[in-house]
Amino acid sequence: MSDCIFCQIVEGTLPSTKLYEDDQVLAFQNIYPGAPIHALIIPKKHIASMDDVTDEEWPLIALVHKVAQQVARELGVAESGYRLVNNCGPNAGQEVFHLHYHLMAGARLSPLGTSNN
Ligand code: 5GP
Ligand code: ZN
Repeated sequence: MSDCIFCQIVEGTLPSTKLYEDDQVLAFQNIYPGAPIHALIIPKKHIASMDDVTDEEWPLIALVHKVAQQVARELGVAESGYRLVNNCGPNAGQEVFHLHYHLMAGARLSPLGTSNN
């Protein structure tokens, strides 16, 4: 079993509430939501961070974005708006080193900045 928790979610050994799945991309609910709607969208392939994406993998990252657009529409927040965030590395607060995007919505979100938002 992988020691990466998001790989475990992909494998099904760690449960998650899935919002979307295909052979390359998975979207699921964040277990500790930081907004009324807080989904996570990941490539199924283990890529540690945005800094580790290779030239061949950019089409996969585009697919992750496409799924984010679709999930936002399905959750009914495409018009009200949403934030798509990737944390890369320590200063950004990345905790899970399997590349993921946060899709946050459902309320007016605080401005991005140097504090904890
Ligand atoms: P990061 O700080 O790495 O950008 O975000 C990691 C996110 O993963 C956090 O928002 C955290 O709530 C979420 N998370 C951590 N462990 C689990 C888990 O076991 N299941 C789910 N669904 N989300 C998790
Ligand atoms: Zn992984």
